[in-house]
Amino acid sequence: MNFLRHSVGLVLGVVLFLSIPDEGKTENAALEAKIREQAAAIEAKLIAWRRDIHQHPELGDQENRTARLVTEHLRSLGLEVRTGIARTGVVGILKGAKPGRTVALRADMDALPVKEPEGLSFASHAKGQHWGKEVDVMHACGHDTHTAMLMAAAEVLAGMKGDLPGTVQFIFQPAEEGSSLFAPGSGKTWGAKLMLQEGIFAQTKPDAVFGLHVMPGHSGEVFYRSGATTASGDFLDIMVTGKQGHGGMPWNTIDPIATSALIISGLQTVVSRKANLTLSPAVVTIGTIHGGEAGNVIPETVQMTGTIRTYDQQVRELIHRDSRMTAEKIAESAGAKADVSIVKIYDTTVNNERLAEWARPVLQRATDGRVSRGPLVGASEDFSFFAEATPGLFIFMGITPRDQDPAKAAPNHSPGFFVDESALVIGTRTMASLAVNFLGSESKP
Ligand SMILES: [Zn+2]
Ligand SMILES: [Zn+2]
Repeated sequence: MNFLRHSVGLVLGVVLFLSIPDEGKTENAALEAKIREQAAAIEAKLIAWRRDIHQHPELGDQENRTARLVTEHLRSLGLEVRTGIARTGVVGILKGAKPGRTVALRADMDALPVKEPEGLSFASHAKGQHWGKEVDVMHACGHDTHTAMLMAAAEVLAGMKGDLPGTVQFIFQPAEEGSSLFAPGSGKTWGAKLMLQEGIFAQTKPDAVFGLHVMPGHSGEVFYRSGATTASGDFLDIMVTGKQGHGGMPWNTIDPIATSALIISGLQTVVSRKANLTLSPAVVTIGTIHGGEAGNVIPETVQMTGTIRTYDQQVRELIHRDSRMTAEKIAESAGAKADVSIVKIYDTTVNNERLAEWARPVLQRATDGRVSRGPLVGASEDFSFFAEATPGLFIFMGITPRDQDPAKAAPNHSPGFFVDESALVIGTRTMASLAVNFLGSESKP
């Protein structure tokens, strides 16, 4: 670069900088610098928390040890703490010295029924009870990192209490992956939905809620989108009843297995021929199918379960209606009967558009410019319920080590899911910066 151009650029830059009214930014610059310094100062502690939680993972609604760790930490920081919310959830309230708005930061604490391979010095050997059965347990979705990062953000923000204009609500949520005590269709509620039913927003109503999830991506890079971001996730159960008989004489039976095969194909045409895919992508998956005991016996029943995912409420309702009708009518045409049950589990997480736009420069600063637009995510998130109750923003952060290709990294829920811990300090900075800027912002989102 030649010197002349460089100086012209510099002068222009200075003029531009001076001529733009810098609402709320400069007043927060000092706090952002403090966040950066404090997050770095506790990085070793943050990683130690993450490893401790990783080594002792707990399934949804059984996060007793994790909740205790969180509770003791929040109490040691002088926060108001409430425990036992939605069974094992914890909420901490940090009141800043100055009056202002309220912002909520959310982390989920639960692990998954996945067996962790050997390798890490802090690998899990934990077992847990999942719907009454003993299973191996692993933090295969990174909720260990979410909990540790929010504990660190709480420490950083508690340290600047005197400068905080407003209140920060820290939500440590159980059972995001579902309850290990109650199955879908049991009529029970858990996780974010139950925390809301138990009144956490009635007691302290935040003006905005932020959540961060780790997933494969360049380490420390944040990606997110405005509007729909994660899918709605609904539970589908189909029981096909035929008439049992001899496998050699199907004409004397009503075959629920052949009928189920037609239903599975028919459900795919609900997505490909009926759903308006310009409004929303959609998925109907049959994940289990159980029927029969012997090769020469046509069974009486076949049971299938599956999941339905969409990003639009209208498309979701139509797919529910058409899936039900398709299964029932195909069964009827075979002389069988299909009992279809569809239970809504998680809504689409919709990022508030104003909040998404407002957050961009904050995220740029917190990540040193490593922010990009994220893809639609096929997974579901019960953060959706928080974001329905108050404007919400759910962002993702990459955790794939820099020498690896994120496209080839093991996805969330895989036993090979791996976290580059150097990203965690960036996640902590990001959450704390969102809170500080939201409370201190003159340009209110
Ligand atoms: Zn997950
Ligand atoms: Zn998750």
